[in-house]
Amino acid sequence: MSVITSVFSVIKKNLPQKNISVTAIRLNVGKFSNVIPDALQFAFDSIKKGTVFEKALLFINEIELTCLCNDCNKTVVMTKHNFVCENCGSCNLTIVTGRELFIESIDVENT
Ligand SMILES: [Zn+2]
Repeated sequence: MSVITSVFSVIKKNLPQKNISVTAIRLNVGKFSNVIPDALQFAFDSIKKGTVFEKALLFINEIELTCLCNDCNKTVVMTKHNFVCENCGSCNLTIVTGRELFIESIDVENT
């Protein structure tokens, strides 16, 4: 199942009532989650027709890959995804953010 169809099914299961349409979906997507925002947007636009998501806009909030350095204790942003601490050069890192993929919020209206 593609990412967007799972997002749709999660939201559908949680809609409070039947006569409702979704007007906005906000997703938090980590830059290290293997999800490509453009591809996600494209998939969203191509399958929303004729569903409760037809009028919805998709907002993707990209979350930087950050790691905690286990040697110098700094939290560093991995802009190059190279897993080297820019402060001390260590490779002894733990991922803090950047792998997430979750629904932040949705907007709905009655139909
Ligand atoms: Zn370090």
